[in-house]
Amino acid sequence: MSRSALVTGGSRGIGLAIARELAAAGDNVAVTYRSGDPPEGLFGVSCDTTDTTQVDSAFTQVEKEQGPVDVLVANAGITKDQLLALTSEEDFSAVLDTNLTGAFRVAKRAVRSMMRSRDGRIILVSSVVGLLGSGGQTSYAASKAGLVGFGRSLAREIGSRNVTVNIVAPGFIETGMTAELPEDRQAEIKKNIPLGRYGAPEEVASTVRFLASPSAAYITGAVIPVDGGLGMGH
Ligand code: NDP
Repeated sequence: MSRSALVTGGSRGIGLAIARELAAAGDNVAVTYRSGDPPEGLFGVSCDTTDTTQVDSAFTQVEKEQGPVDVLVANAGITKDQLLALTSEEDFSAVLDTNLTGAFRVAKRAVRSMMRSRDGRIILVSSVVGLLGSGGQTSYAASKAGLVGFGRSLAREIGSRNVTVNIVAPGFIETGMTAELPEDRQAEIKKNIPLGRYGAPEEVASTVRFLASPSAAYITGAVIPVDGGLGMGH
């Protein structure tokens, strides 16, 4: 039977690749989008994950369309990179609100039905920099490290209800987010990646597909790197 999956920030980049991969695996997939149009062939719900009312309404629409969410992928994220001295409290809070509290909002709304049905998969999209740290990215790294503590705590809380919570930690992946980095910085980064290249969104998506599949039924609270070896040892 097809499951109901929801991917936040599924209109482009890694989220869109994840949504397409889950659809290819046979799930009914909904995505949240904020700007522009929903991607073709997927059920799109307009939602800003910094707004609890919009999150609730998005879940209600998804429930009506394809049933309660069995697989949640909290992927929506932003960066506002800057050296600490130049980072405003407003920007720091905005990054935390989207990347960490946004995941809290969607996970909280999703676990209600997952706990009732005693089945569910939650996958949080973190980042290699959450564990490694990265100069100029204090807000982003804090938000992504926060997802590890959040996800592992939730995994302990709801494991007895057969709901797994795992964290995927991508390294540098070719999307709009990395294209914004200056070229010299990109070359420097690649020098430090054992595999010597950026990853493709599809390479993150296939890991998420695995974590959402029956093959990963006994994996919870794990942090899975998809980073070409960049974060090895962390
Ligand atoms: P993109 O910038 O390409 O896409 C980000 C997505 O998140 C968009 O769909 C965007 O929607 C959505 N989004 C942002 N803010 C909100 C919000 N408040 N409410 C709802 N949706 C929102 O990023 P990537 O695909 O590169 O990144 C996806 C995830 O992967 C992020 O969490 C990112 O931190 C993480 N990641 C990315 C890496 C990379 O190298 N690219 C590396 C490690 C982690 P909209 O189009 O409407 O703005």
